[in-house]
Amino acid sequence: MNRENKKRKYDRRYFRTHPCTDAFTCKVCGWPVVSTGAGSSHRNHCPNCLYSIHLDNSPGDRESGCHGRMEPIGVWVRKNGEWAVIHRCTVCGKISSNRTAADDNPMKLMALAMRPFGSPAISQKNIKNMTITMEG
Ligand SMILES: [Zn+2]
Ligand SMILES: [Zn+2]
Repeated sequence: MNRENKKRKYDRRYFRTHPCTDAFTCKVCGWPVVSTGAGSSHRNHCPNCLYSIHLDNSPGDRESGCHGRMEPIGVWVRKNGEWAVIHRCTVCGKISSNRTAADDNPMKLMALAMRPFGSPAISQKNIKNMTITMEG
């Protein structure tokens, strides 16, 4: 496990050849996160607290050097009916949208969905850019 972590630290392309099928411990709440049960091959946030870590410049590339905690700030539903969580990096402010996983904490999702969407944390411009990226 330690050796694997080290490898990840020094090999930034690790995740390109090793998709997120591994288990890790959530840096925010300590939840043991496993990829099984997610219902997809992309596990990029904790199913318990819904926090993510800023690893990507574009989805899946693991090229970002930020590694800030990405706070879940909202939930939205895509055209195809799929739920997605909006994450904002607490370090650099980057906003991204991530598909929810099958075992995400439903109470957390609901709590997020009930938050007023007009919060100043999310500008209209960001929403527009984000939806263009995600629907494209
Ligand atoms: Zn967590
Ligand atoms: Zn960041």
